[in-house]
Formats: sequence, structure tokens, C-alpha cells
Amino acid sequence: METGHWSPERIPAWQDAETVRPGTLRQLAALAEVEQCPEVVLQMPAEDPLYGTTTKLLLRLADGREVESVAIPMAAGGHRTACVSSQVGCKQGCAFCRTARMGLVRDLAAHEIVGQVVAVNRVLGQPVRNVVFMGMGEPLDNPLAVAQAAAVFSEHPGLSLAWSRITISTVGRLDGLAAWEDLGLGSANLAISLHAADPGVRAALVPAARIESLVELRLALGRIALPRGRRIMLAVVVIPGVTDQPLLLDALHAWIGDLPVLVNLIPFNPFPGVAWRAPEAAEMHAMWAALRQRGLAVRTRVTKGRATLAACGQLATARRPAGASPRPGSDAGSRSST
Ligand code: SF4
Repeated sequence: METGHWSPERIPAWQDAETVRPGTLRQLAALAEVEQCPEVVLQMPAEDPLYGTTTKLLLRLADGREVESVAIPMAAGGHRTACVSSQVGCKQGCAFCRTARMGLVRDLAAHEIVGQVVAVNRVLGQPVRNVVFMGMGEPLDNPLAVAQAAAVFSEHPGLSLAWSRITISTVGRLDGLAAWEDLGLGSANLAISLHAADPGVRAALVPAARIESLVELRLALGRIALPRGRRIMLAVVVIPGVTDQPLLLDALHAWIGDLPVLVNLIPFNPFPGVAWRAPEAAEMHAMWAALRQRGLAVRTRVTKGRATLAACGQLATARRPAGASPRPGSDAGSRSST
């Protein structure tokens, strides 16, 4: 199975390869389920009287590397969403993200991504209802494995999720977005980690923005053919005094233009070593109201699992395998999350 170097030119060959045939997908799913399901090293439940239990799992892969996955309760029905990782660590370096401090260790193979959901299902004792690629890693830095895993989620009888229940979140790699349809992801939900529509602020928060300009990103998103009635989710992390400035909200409004989006406000979730604080409820509401005033569709995400560092931006495996290159100030050697 191919999981390494990728370039857009290789997509057509991959499309014809046996990796996308249903029989192969079944084999891949079976491999994840029977032979390669990651070992559950730790389960960290965080109780919430309103929403139920958020459970972070520390999973050990066959080579000893570790990733984290999270089972997140949904608002209604007792169902869960699995938040899965696509890489061990990440090279994108987002300033608000604990995973970034690990550096990139390696890509996950498709069966290792599938195996996370199998592990979550086993721990929960019931299948999850949604899968979001919002764990460790940038999915479009590892597009083939992510596309294969998403195909398994949609096709395997034991998982069989509708594509509308699969969400892939990216900082907006232009080559990956250009290949979105060819990767077979056209029916999945697309979430963009935008955070700010001002080039300087975005570059400070998402270093990839230094090479992927906001203009090019906006054009790329405008070219994506969305399923009928579907919107692109635009994630904006709410960092008091940083991303909630009125001028930035104006810039966001202007950048969106006529793009069909739902702005998803995510409260910053602190972790050891960062100076920023989490927003108060009133600050979240003020930003929500300010964007609504500008005519945007917007919702706020409720933070779940912050106490166990299971919330958005808090995932990281503490043990640093040989070969990883942590960034300065890394807390990746302390296992503080576990
Ligand atoms: S937010 Fe996502 S893309 Fe950015 S460093 Fe964290 S895991 Fe990587």
C-alpha cells in the first residue's frame, strides 16, 4: 500500500490502481479490524453533565509509534463522532496546536486510520455516527491514505458511513484541493482551517499560509463542486485579542464573498507552554454576534474534553520516537496529556 510521497500527477494512476476496488477496500478494512487494529494504551474519559463523556484514546501502532483519537459525544441521540489522526505529529506548525510541537514523525497508512475508528467503536461498544479528520496531522499532507481510509469508512459493511458524515479538515493545501474530486473526496465534507483572512495574522497562526496565499485559497475553494446544499466549513479559532478583532472580522466577511460557507468558531484550548487563554463564553458570543451582524452563517463549537487535553488543538503523543524533530519549546517529551 502506498502512503508516502505524493504529487498531483500521480492521482490518475492511483485512481486506476487496485487500491480503490471494493474487494481491496474490504481487505483493507479487515486488515485494520483483525490484524492491525492499534493497541489501546490509555483511555481518558472526561465527563460533561450536558453532553456526555468525551473519551480520548492513546493508541499504539505496530511500530510502537502512538497517536491519539477522540470519541466525541454528539448533541442528541447518544451518538458519537470519532476524531481521527492522519499522521504521527504534523509539519504544519500551527501556533495554537499542540500537535505542531511534535514535528512530523510519519504519515499513517490507511489501515492505521481505519484502525482508529475500529478501536473507538470497540471501546464505545457501538459504532460512531461521524468521522472527522481533525486529529493529529494535516490530511492533505497524506492524501492517498486519507482518501483510502475515507473510502473504507463509506463502503465497509461494519462502518458504512454516508459521505455526508465524513469530514476532512485541512489548512488548505492547494494541490490537495485541486485533486479533491480525483481523490474521490467530492462527497465528503470539507473544512478549512482558516482562522484569519488577513495574510499577516494567518501566517502567524498557520505557517503554511506563507506559501498558500489567501487569494489562491479563495480561488481554489470557489472551484470545488460541492454536493447540493452543502457548505464549506471555515474554522476560526477564537483567541481573545488575536482573532476577534473587528478589522479581522471585516476581512473575513470580504474574503468569503459569495462562497457558501458555515463559519465554525472554535474556542482556543490552552495547553502547556502557550500564553494565550481560552475565551470566555461572553467573548465567544460577541464574536458570533459580530459575524452574524455581517450576514454570515456562523456557529460556535462547544469544547469537549479540555480537561484531558482531548479538545481541538490539544492532541499530541508525549513519547517522542527517535527521528522526530520537535520545535523549540516543545512539551512533547513530558506526556502531560496522559
Ligand atoms: S492544527 Fe492541524 S495542520 Fe495545524 S499543526 Fe495542528 S494538526 Fe497540523
